Amino acid sequence: MDYLPVFLQLRSACAVIVGGGRIAARKADLLLRAGARVTVVAPHLHEDLRSRATAGEVTHLAESFAPAHLDGAAIAVAATGLSDINTAVSEAARARNVPVNVVDDPSLSTFIFPAIIDRSPVIVAVGSAGQAPVLARWVRERIEAILPARLGALARFMGERRKRVQQVLGFAARRAFWERIVRGKAGAHLLAGDEPGARRAFEAELLISQLTTSAATGGSALGEVYLIGAGPGDPDLLTLRALQLLQQADVVLYDRLVPAATLERARREARRIFVGKTHGGSEGHTPQEDIHELMLRFARQGLKVARLKGGDPFIFGRGGEEVEALARHGIPCLVVPGITAALGAAAGAGIPLTQRGLAQSVTFVTGHLPEDEALDWRTLARAHHTVVFYMGVGKLAPIVARLRAAGAPDTLPAALIERATLPEQRVLRGTLAQIADLGSRAGVSPPALLIVGDVVAASAATEPAATPAPAAESAADLIQPI
Ligand code: SAH
Repeated sequence: MDYLPVFLQLRSACAVIVGGGRIAARKADLLLRAGARVTVVAPHLHEDLRSRATAGEVTHLAESFAPAHLDGAAIAVAATGLSDINTAVSEAARARNVPVNVVDDPSLSTFIFPAIIDRSPVIVAVGSAGQAPVLARWVRERIEAILPARLGALARFMGERRKRVQQVLGFAARRAFWERIVRGKAGAHLLAGDEPGARRAFEAELLISQLTTSAATGGSALGEVYLIGAGPGDPDLLTLRALQLLQQADVVLYDRLVPAATLERARREARRIFVGKTHGGSEGHTPQEDIHELMLRFARQGLKVARLKGGDPFIFGRGGEEVEALARHGIPCLVVPGITAALGAAAGAGIPLTQRGLAQSVTFVTGHLPEDEALDWRTLARAHHTVVFYMGVGKLAPIVARLRAAGAPDTLPAALIERATLPEQRVLRGTLAQIADLGSRAGVSPPALLIVGDVVAASAATEPAATPAPAAESAADLIQPI
C-alpha cells in the first residue's frame, strides 16, 4: 500500500490553493464542500474562482506565491502548471508539515486526491497511487452504478436513530439489528424514497428486537413483497433498484416472460418458483389466486418475496390486483417499475413512438379482445397517432379489420416485433393491409407486439444496426419494403 486512505476533517480549517485556473477552481469547490476556509494565491483568477471570490466564498490574494502564505495552513494545493512554483509550494509545505498536493505530480505531493463518490455522509474514495487516475475514475463509475442514489439518506436515517438503539438494545443485538435495517425492509423502503414505510419497518424491527430474547437471531414476523418489473427481456434493461431487491429476495416468483438470464441476477440462494403460463394448458395462466396465495404464504413466513413480472407490473401485468390482494392482508409491498415491452420493442426496432409531424400521442392497448366494444377504434385509427397492441399475435386479422373499418388506410405502416430486446428478436415491417399475412407466413408467435402508425415508416432508416437478423430461413421473405 503506497498511501494510507484517511478522511480529513477540514471544517473551518485553512486551505491554501496556489494557482487560479480551472483545476484550482475544482479543488476549491471540493475543499469548500468539506467546509474549509479557502485562500487562493494567484495573480489572476479563472472566472469560476473570480465569482466565488466576489461572493466572498474564497479569499483571493492577488500575489505571487511566497512560503509565508502557508503559515497556519492545514492543507495546501499547488495547481499552477509551472514547475518551479509547484516545487516551491511543495518545499514550503513540507518545511511546515502541511500536507500538500501538487496536481499531476505525485513526487512533489504528500497526499493525492482520490476519485470520490459522494453520497454524504457515505463517501467512497478510489485511488491508484497517482499511477492511473483514469482507471481510478473508471472504478469509481462502476461502483457508482451499483450504489443506490439514496444511500446518503439511509445513512442519515440510521445516524438519527443511533442513540435510541444504543439505549434499548444490548451491544450484541445492535449489530444484527443494524444489519437487518440495511439489508431488510427499512433499508429497501428508504432507498426507494418511501420514508414513512422505512420508519414503520424500523419501528417494527426495533420492537421485535426488543421482544425477542436473542435479538441477534430474531427476525421479523412479517415478510414483504417486491413487485418488480423485469423489463422486456434483455437482463441489462433491469433497473438498478430491481437488481438491488433481487439480490435481497429469499424467494422469486417469476412469469413466463422472464428469461433465465434475468433470473440469474437474483441472489444465488433464493428459491425460484415459476408461476407463469402452464404449458399446454388451455386455461392459460396459473390461477391468479394461487399466485396471491403463494405471495401471502411466503411473506407470512417472514421472507422477502420478489414477484418478478415481464415489462412493467402495472401494464397488462395484473400488478394492481396483486397489490390489492397484499394490502387486504396487510402485507407490505414495494413496486419497482420496469421497461414495458412497447418501449423495449420501439428501441429494439428503432421506432420512435412519437415524432414531430408523425405522431403526437401513443396508446398501449391489449389486442387480446379485438371484439371488445369498450375500445374506441376510431380513436385508435386516427392520423398522427401510434398504437401498440400487446397480446395480439393470435388476433392480427380481426385487429386489422377493426382498424380498417374505423378508417385507418390500408397503406398505414405497421410492424411486428417478436421477442424484442432478446437475441432472437425479429422485426417485420409492412402496411396494415399486409401485416397479418406477413405475420402468419413468418410464424410469429408470442411474445410479440404490433405497432401501427406513420412512425413505423420513419423508423426503417433508423433501425439500430445491432438488431439481430431474423432467425427464419429467408430474411428477404420477412422484411418487406413498405
Ligand atoms: N407487463 C408486460 C406486458 C405483459 S402482457 C409489459 O409491461 O411489457 C404480455 C404481452 O406483452 C405479450 O403478449 C406481448 O405482446 C408483450 N411482450 C412482452 N415482452 C415482449 C417482448 N420481449 N417482445 C415483444 N412483445 C413482448
